[in-house]
Amino acid sequence: MKIIMLGAPGAGKGTQAKQIAAKYGIPHISTGDIFRANIKEGTELGKKAKEYMDQGALVPDELTCDLVMDRIQKDDAKNGFVLDGFPRTIPQAEALDAALTKAGEAMDYAIDVDVPDENIVGRMGGRRACLNCGATYHIVSIPPKKEGICDNCGSELVLRDDDKPETVQKRLNVYHEQTQPLIDFYKGKGILRSVDGTVPMDQVFESIVSILGE
Ligand code: AMP
Repeated sequence: MKIIMLGAPGAGKGTQAKQIAAKYGIPHISTGDIFRANIKEGTELGKKAKEYMDQGALVPDELTCDLVMDRIQKDDAKNGFVLDGFPRTIPQAEALDAALTKAGEAMDYAIDVDVPDENIVGRMGGRRACLNCGATYHIVSIPPKKEGICDNCGSELVLRDDDKPETVQKRLNVYHEQTQPLIDFYKGKGILRSVDGTVPMDQVFESIVSILGE
């Protein structure tokens, strides 16, 4: 099963993507996580990506597309994958489409986790991330067991630079301009499904499971 998660930054698509990956036994591929891992390791890609990420801008397509195309060809992605944060632009979606068509394949579902902008701004200020293992929390809805400390690895949790209020509005603008058009793109392909992302997380997941099947 090949799934794309769509939705504004902070809509909860990452949390849902991780649960989908666990339930259906497919890898969770997050371009944001891949960029953050590169930043942490100090790679050339990480250095370039950070300049854009810190400003709430998108990393250029030419740095993003090849990375994903290589990743989806790995052995663990043979039976499918869930893409989280990719594609984010029409050219990225077209590149993905072309690569899959060439391999005689196609995406199965694009799931849009729908949350209005008003809800997003409040949510993102409460997000906390572990820069060591990539786990994410929310001070209200998914708190860590011990405040400020990652449950998985014991590292300190931080508010990511790109989750700071001044950057969030910029990311929302970028989302509306560049990523929202993907909703019509996938509607046109007949694979778009929308779920209400304002309800509690386990209910969002139930709606997704009812689309994907048990
Ligand atoms: P995320 O963790 O998905 O919210 O991504 C964090 C940041 O990484 C975004 O605000 C972008 O700067 C960058 N990023 C992640 N995925 C992409 C993508 N598909 N295209 C361009 N930039 C991306």
